[in-house]
Amino acid sequence: MLVDAGLSHRKLVQRFTALGREAPNNIEAVIVTHSHTDHAAHASTYATRFGCPIRASEAAMPSIRLRPTAQAQPFTVGRAFRLGDITIHSRSLPHDAPQVALVFETTATKVGLVTDLGHVPKGLERFLDDCETVLLESNHDPDMLATGPYPEALKQRVAGSLGHLSNGEAGDLLAGLAHAPRRVVLMHLSETNNSAQLARSSAEAALGHRGTELLLARQQQPLELDAGQDGHDGHDEQFQLIL
Ligand SMILES: [Zn+2]
Ligand SMILES: [Zn+2]
Repeated sequence: MLVDAGLSHRKLVQRFTALGREAPNNIEAVIVTHSHTDHAAHASTYATRFGCPIRASEAAMPSIRLRPTAQAQPFTVGRAFRLGDITIHSRSLPHDAPQVALVFETTATKVGLVTDLGHVPKGLERFLDDCETVLLESNHDPDMLATGPYPEALKQRVAGSLGHLSNGEAGDLLAGLAHAPRRVVLMHLSETNNSAQLARSSAEAALGHRGTELLLARQQQPLELDAGQDGHDGHDEQFQLIL
C-alpha cells in the first residue's frame, strides 16, 4: 500500500532506485491522510496507474481532487478496515483540514503514523499504545519559526492549534506513551524552521533511557526499515516501510 501521495511516481521510482530496489509494480490501495497537496497531489495518478482505490476518510475525500478514472473508497474514522493481512485503525487529528492518525496492525506488530497536527489531542497516547514503531511529526523549533523567514500569517498557521507539531510537543507525546516504542521515526521536519539536531535532541530527552531507536526521515532522502518481527512468538513476518 501507498500511504500519502505527495511525490510523483517518477520521484518515487528515484527513491526506490536510490535504495537499490525496484519500485513496486502492484499497489492495492492509496491511503490518503488528508487533502493537503504534500499528501494528496498525486493520489489520483497512482490510483489510475495501479487500478486501485483511494482510501481516505469520509471528511477528507471531498477535498481530494479525483480524476474520473480514480476510484474513491472512503472509510469511517474510528472504524477499522483491512488490507490483506493489515488492519488499519484511524482517529482524527487537529489540523486545518480533516486529518487522521493511522495505526497499521498485523498479528506481530503495530505501526503508528502521526503527522500534520497542531497539538496533541486527548487520547492520542492511548491510540498509539503498544505501537512498536511510531512515525511522528516533529515539524519545527518554535524559536526558529518565530525568527525565520515565513510571513507572519504562515508562522501563526504553523504554530497554531490546527497547524503542525513542534519538537517539544512531539517530545511530550513520546514521554506520555505508556510503553516505550521499539523505534521512533521523526517525520515532516521543516527544512526552514527546524534542524535535525534540535529535533533529535528534543526527542532523545523525552524518551530518556528507554532503549528506543530514534531515526529521522529526511525530505530528500528515502529511508527503509523493517517493522516486522523476528518470529520469537511463532510469527515471522516482513513488514517493510519505505519513507
Ligand atoms: Zn503535510
Ligand atoms: Zn497538512
